[in-house]
Formats: sequence, structure tokens, C-alpha cells
Amino acid sequence: MPRLFVKNKRERVNCMNELSPMMQQYMRIKEQYKDAILFFRLGDFYEMFYDDAKLVSSELDLTLTGKDCGQNERAPMCGIPYHSCDSYIARLVSKGYKIAMCDQVENPAQAKGVVKREVVRVITPGTIMEECMLDESQNNYICSIHVSEKENKNVGLTFCDISTGELKTTEINNIEQNLNFLKNEIGKFYPKEILFNGDLNFLSSIENFLKEKFSCRIEKIDKIFSDNEALDILLSFFDKDNLINLNLNENFSAINSMAMLFEYLKITQKNGLERIEKAIYYDNSEYMRLDLNTIRNLEITETMRKKSKKGSLLWVLDKTKTAMGKRMFRSWIERPLINVNRIKFRQDAVDELYKDIILRDAIEECLVGIHDMERIMTKITYGSANGRDLKSLSSALSKLPKIKNILQSANSKYLINLYNNIETLEETHELIENAIVDEPPFLIKEGGIIKPGYSEEVDNLHKDMNGGKIVVAEIEKRERESTGIPKLKIGYNRVFGYYIEVSNSFKNKVPQNYIRKQTLTNCERFITEELKNLESRILYARDRVQEVEYQIFEKVRLQVAKELPKIVKSANTIAKLDIIRSLAEVAFKNNYVKPEINNGDKILIKEGRHPVVELLLKNVPFVPNNANLDNSENMVSIITGPNMAGKSTYMRQTAIIVLMAQIGSFVPADKAEIGVVDSIFTRIGASDDLASGQSTFMLEMNEVADILKNATKKSLLILDEIGRGTSTFDGMSIAKAVLEYVSDNKRLGAKTLFATHYHELTSMVDDFDNIKNYNIAVKKHGDDITFLRRIVPGAADDSYGIEVAKLSGIPDSIISRAKTILKEIESDNRYVAYPENRKNIDSNIQLKLSDSYGNEEKIIEKLKSIDVSVLTPIEAINVLYELVKYCN
Ligand code: ATP
Repeated sequence: MPRLFVKNKRERVNCMNELSPMMQQYMRIKEQYKDAILFFRLGDFYEMFYDDAKLVSSELDLTLTGKDCGQNERAPMCGIPYHSCDSYIARLVSKGYKIAMCDQVENPAQAKGVVKREVVRVITPGTIMEECMLDESQNNYICSIHVSEKENKNVGLTFCDISTGELKTTEINNIEQNLNFLKNEIGKFYPKEILFNGDLNFLSSIENFLKEKFSCRIEKIDKIFSDNEALDILLSFFDKDNLINLNLNENFSAINSMAMLFEYLKITQKNGLERIEKAIYYDNSEYMRLDLNTIRNLEITETMRKKSKKGSLLWVLDKTKTAMGKRMFRSWIERPLINVNRIKFRQDAVDELYKDIILRDAIEECLVGIHDMERIMTKITYGSANGRDLKSLSSALSKLPKIKNILQSANSKYLINLYNNIETLEETHELIENAIVDEPPFLIKEGGIIKPGYSEEVDNLHKDMNGGKIVVAEIEKRERESTGIPKLKIGYNRVFGYYIEVSNSFKNKVPQNYIRKQTLTNCERFITEELKNLESRILYARDRVQEVEYQIFEKVRLQVAKELPKIVKSANTIAKLDIIRSLAEVAFKNNYVKPEINNGDKILIKEGRHPVVELLLKNVPFVPNNANLDNSENMVSIITGPNMAGKSTYMRQTAIIVLMAQIGSFVPADKAEIGVVDSIFTRIGASDDLASGQSTFMLEMNEVADILKNATKKSLLILDEIGRGTSTFDGMSIAKAVLEYVSDNKRLGAKTLFATHYHELTSMVDDFDNIKNYNIAVKKHGDDITFLRRIVPGAADDSYGIEVAKLSGIPDSIISRAKTILKEIESDNRYVAYPENRKNIDSNIQLKLSDSYGNEEKIIEKLKSIDVSVLTPIEAINVLYELVKYCN
């Protein structure tokens, strides 16, 4: 820390004066970017000083040096070469740091005194544009959460990917009641950075969730705008026409969250914000509700264990060829539709490409090699594109007329719509092709970028340069002959310019008119008047050509930037086409069928398969199974069967088939009829969240509570082994009560698949018409079992836990001991009776009943008549139920 930072104002001024002028400039700039690491450009390096230097050197393992700063103390310093700064920035940003890039904004050669420097951009995790720091298959969102201070506590939620120009906004009413909804929405966009306004209590409750689940950077925004100020900010960025579906008189929460975002981007990005050309207000009720647990449990985008794409549904379905398609596919798969017409619209397009192999292949051929038009356009708008970016865009544009031509023969409405939305942009393609050389250099300011024939001035300057070089060769030849020095040569370097080099052995032959310039160990270097004049001509032409080429490049870039709306529209269309083609290819290759979609309440699947498991199984075939759910007799399926039999797989596959159908995909089955569901909820497996202070059981119950609160009659529920995290009796009671609730039309009445090892629950079919038993068949041979994987009506007789444990490799001695214990348990009444520790609970129940109803004697009489030693758990629950009814 320099002394400067610790003194009072007067002393600070004095200290400042002691610093060198350049360090004074550094201090002034750093003062404005205290929360960022300042990358200070010095020649070919970005240097960091003081605490920034210490931090960066330790984070990036760089050598810490020092710089004399004119204060009788050395400032800690470390630096990185400017031309390779991206990889260092990427590492710092991924660790959540904010970096202020301070560049030289005038030509050092023309500077009077210290070169002028300015912060040209602040890079944060949510504002990255550099290709090397981005994943092409995923968006890089920054999220802005604005919580209204009004009583309604409405939230405006905006997600923006500045690398693609996408901006989406929405509102959530009464956040205190809809916190989970907010979490789910954030979970789907997976932002790298979140802005929120202030220190509100409920947000601190999700701060942990945000930091742990997404390890994203959180920036608290203190500046508050009135609704009118926020609207003014928004309208300074967008024409009203580009605020899609936004109600300017109502959506003030969304408007405020966008204003907050733009104020932040203005400070960090400085320019290029015109890339965000429109804001889209979206309404969540247009999509199937899928919460984070469901996306995780069904392994939609990544596997639960390894968090890898391989093994997820996305891995099976995403065969897109372009980065735009890949990014959009993710949003499709996480947001299945609920509108039957929209689903059919997509489905018919998939169907057309499924059937028309020639059309499908022709589209594929065109899509291969289309570069990331969205992200290139960001660079072009922002001004950081080079010649190679323009050529990549041009090569993508060259495919557009071809694709349009191919789509001309399409019949489905969706494909016809895509055909209508493709802008072919021939002129832009031609402009780039005519202006930019075929293999442009990486740098844009060093010439060699403009194609011969495009500019007369550039061509003439090139002639001067090249003519000069020919003259140099002629002079060299002539001088060799006239001096008789055979090895005389003319060379050039940046410091000395042109020179004639003569080795020491011919020194005595050097003519009078040669002027000595430099002496080296083995030779001497000279200059002549003639060479000097020639040098100025060549150098002028070279400098000038670099300048003129850069100006022309900038003109071309700006011309292309003007076509932003058309290019983005085409990129968007390409992405959709890519997804439809991918779905058709996968359907064809994996033998999927087109499901019938309707607004009914049935889910009928014939010979359905799990799309991922069937691909991963080696050596054994996948056994298909039927599913039959509706909102009447087949509302709830209780699925029993041995461990490892395939219960979870079956339930997941049913949910996944429904989800696939609602994104417009074909499904892995022989036949399917899907009545659209508004949400899929899943409660699967044991997991814990110790960091948030939740036990495994507590987490399970929280999830169940959330499902029961949010599910509707149109939901599909997948409940796998509810109640396993506690004692058998408590768990089973909870499971039964949940089943009663979900199957009761007056309470919930939602289609449910319910797997359990509590075989007692299967007797519920006797009392409830809409609950059916299914089990997964196995064959038992002596001690061994074979899994048949086939789901059949009826209840299973056993879980065969010990037999399955044997298959897993548990030592034989333990298996045989387990069998002995099982026999003891089965023959010993003590284990069937209530365990000791339940006595207190029983007496509690007794007390409560007597307190409330004063009917103690009758109840005690009833209880005494029960032989608890022979009571099964399910009977115990029924007795309890009767007692309660009696009391009422
Ligand atoms: P547990 O009760 O122990 O949780 P489970 O009944 O839920 O077990 P799953 O996890 O669904 O069993 O399935 C176990 C394995 O069986 C799967 O990983 C898969 O390899 C295989 N399997 C499941 N269903 C099928 C099927 N229909 N065809 C072929 N193999 C299957």
C-alpha cells in the first residue's frame, strides 16, 4: 500500500506530488476503480501495482517485482504481455475478479508528457465478450434482480448475454411467497454475475444458494431510480418498437431491473451496447414448469454425479452443428411448451425432416462450418473484430442463400416460417469478400488486410512500397559491383532503418560516401544519402498504407454493423433450423415416434424406453415398458419391486418422454399419446445440502412440501421412495398421507408415479379407485434373482434387498449373517411391535385425545383392545385414522 493511501487529504496531496507523473496518473485512475484490478498499459505490457500486483502475482503465480515510483519506495509491480492478456484475464475473471482495462488512448510518439490513458472497459464474469473465455455451447448471462420497495415486493428479473446481445426480462409477484420460483429461474439461466438492489433480508437468504450453486459474482447496486427515471434510462437505449411484449405502464419492476443493468453496463462496457437491440418480456406461464430439482433429477442437461453432458438428455438430443443452435437447444430443453399448437408446429417440422432424408442432409451440409454469427456480431459492433472475424462472418453469410433455396421446397408451416425469416445478405457478403484478403492477419493496424483492387489509394501505396523494395535490391547489386565487395548486403531493422552491411574483412574497400551507422563484432553498417531518401519514401508508403487500410477496414466494419438486425434475425433462424434438424436426425437414428399431443389428461405410452439408458446399455437390450396415467382411474401408480429392478428408470423415462414430447421432439416408444402437462415435479433419491443447514430428511420433506404446494391437476409427479430418510413407521405414514393427498381430486388430484419399498402401501388400491399397483417382474432361482425389467400390474411380494446386495459384491459372510438376522426378525414379535421409543409418542397421542374431547375412557378402551404385537404398520395407521374420525 503506498503511503498515499493512508494519509489525510493534505498529506495525500503532498505524497502525490512526490510520485512520478506516470504514477500520479495511475493513482488518479485507480482511485476511480477501487473495487477492480487495474490493468495499466505500459508499452507492450499491462502492469499492476501495489495491492493489485500482490494479488495478481499470487493468484496467477507471477513474479512480483517493484517499480521506483519517485517516493523513495518501490511500488510492488507485476505485469503481463498485452498480446496474451486474454488467458490471464480469463483466469482472474473465472475467480470472480473485476478487471479495469486501462489503455493508452493517444499515440505515444505524439504525446506531450505522460501518454494519455483511460479505462476503456471493465471486465466482469457477466460481461465477457472474448471468445477464448466463453463456452460456445452456453450463454454467458448477467442477471439483474430489482426488488420493489413497494408493499407488493414485486421483483423485476432481467437476464442479458452481452456476447450474443440477448436480453430477456420478466416479473415475479410477491417475492416472499415465490422465492423458489426466483431460484428456479436463476437456475435455468445460470448467470455468471448478479446485480441486486440493496441488502434486503430475503435476498440474503438466497445469497448462499447463488454463491454455492453457481459460484457467481454478486454486485449490490445502491443507486435507486424512480419509475420514471428507470423508464427514461430504458428509452435512451431502445426504441419502443424494440421493447417486445413489455407494458410500459405496468411492468415497472422489469423496467427498473433493466435500468439497473444498463447503468452498470454503461460503466463497465463504455461502448458497444447497441448490440443489445431489443428487450423481450417473457411470461413464464407459457412454459412447462420445471424446477431445478427436476432438471437435476431427470439429468436433462448434465448427469447428477459427474455433472457431465455425456449421459444427459441433452447429450442424446443435441446434434446441432452451430454454436447458435447449441445455445438455443439448451433453452428449448429447459423450457418445454404447454401450448398444443406451438408444440405441433415444431413437431410437424421435425416430422418433415424425419421423412425427407434428402432435405435433412442438404440442410446439414449447409449448417456445417457456419461460424458463431451472434458472437462475431458482438465483436463487430463493439469494435474488437479483426479481419478474420469478418471473413468468418462472410463464410457464414455465403450459406444463407443456399439454405433459403433448400427451404423453398419445405411444406411444414414452421419451416416455411424459417424460410421467410432468412435474410440472405448477399451485399454484405460481397462487401467483405471484395474488401478483405482471403487470409487476413490477426492485427488490424499493420496492413495487409485490404484486397488488391478494392482501393486505388492502397494499391498505389503498395506499388510504392514494392517498387522501393525492388530499387533496394538494384542498389545492392550495383554497390556490390562498384565496390567489389561480394558479400555486401542491404538490410533493415526497426531501430536503424536501412543500412549497408560490410564484413570486417572488406572494410578497406568501403567508399567515401558511406556514412558509418553502427559497428558490430564482425561487420560495420553504413548509410548513404540515396538509401536515406529511399527509406523515407518506403517508410512513408508503409505507414500510410497501414493507416489507409485500417480506415477502410473500419468503414467496412461499420457497414457490416449496420446490418445487425438482419444478421441477428438470420442467426436466430439458423439456430432454430439446426435444432429441428437435430431432433429429426436423432428421431430417425434412435427409432423414435411422433407422439400425439392434445389437451386431454392421458399419458399413454406403448413400449416406452429411456432415451439415455438405452444408448448407454452395452451387451443387454433395453426392455421397453408401457405407461398409462390419467386424471381418473389411473391417476396414481404405486410401483414396487426389488432394488435394482428398474423402478427409477421407468419413472424417469415416463417423465422424460412427456418432456421430449412438449419440446416438439419425437419420443422413444412405439406409440405415445401425451395430454400436455403444466409441470413435472420429481422427488428422487437422497441428497443433502449441509451447507444450507439442511439434513437429508429435512431436504426431502422440503422438496415434498414444495411439490404439494405448487403442483396442479395438470402436473406430473414422480415420487421415488418418499419417507425413506426417517424411521419406518414415520416414513410410511408420511408416504401414505402424501399418496392420499395427491390422489384426492378435492385436494390435488395429479397424475403420479410413486415407487416405494413400503409394500404395505399397496393395499391402498382396496380403498382408492384411482390408485393402481404395478411391479417390476423378477425371476427367482433359489438364492438368485434375474431382473426381467418388465412392468406388470399388481404388487411385488418382496424387495429382495439381500439378494441384490449379494449381486453387488458384499462379502458372503455378511450376506449369510443378514439372512439369519432377517429370519430372526420375521419370527420375533418384538420387531413387529412398536419399538420402545414410540411409547412416549403414543402417550402423547393419548393425552391430546383426552384433552380435546374428554372422552378418555372410551379411547383407552379402544386402545387396550388392540394387540399391538400383531399389528402391521398399515393397520396401525388405519386404527389411528379411525380414532381420529371417532373423536371428530
Ligand atoms: P432401487 O430400488 O435400488 O433404487 P430401481 O428399481 O430404482 O432400484 P433402477 O435404478 O431404475 O432400479 O435400475 C437399475 C439399473 O437397471 C439401471 O441402471 C439400468 O442399467 C437397468 N435397467 C433399468 N431399467 C431397465 C430396462 N427397462 N431395460 C434394461 N435395463 C434396465
